[in-house]
Amino acid sequence: MTQPANVRRDPALPISTDLTRLGLLAWATQTAQRGRHVIPLRPNDKRPAGHAEQYCPATGRCADGHKTPEQRATTDVELLIAAWAQAPYNVRIATGPSGLRVIDLDGSIRTARPREAA
Ligand SMILES: [Zn+2]
Repeated sequence: MTQPANVRRDPALPISTDLTRLGLLAWATQTAQRGRHVIPLRPNDKRPAGHAEQYCPATGRCADGHKTPEQRATTDVELLIAAWAQAPYNVRIATGPSGLRVIDLDGSIRTARPREAA
């Protein structure tokens, strides 16, 4: 039987009763449990949560140098629970660390032609 996660909550932040984050947290944890590395995105946005390199505090996970969103992506469910306790983040999968390749099919079908192999 799985034991409850030991969640680390920032005591300086208020406890939220916003339950919309539970659905997003469920997506994040289920994705992580399938071995996909998750990046929290800013609420209602496509940009990664956290800080940009120019604002790096060089502490915590960045103590040994700034970590990109892909480097901070995780399958650690406890970290995801702690993150979503702070805000209703959107969910992104870090394709590289997850071993996935993506084909982006945006654009016109008429202009999209496969490149010839060299
Ligand atoms: Zn940093």
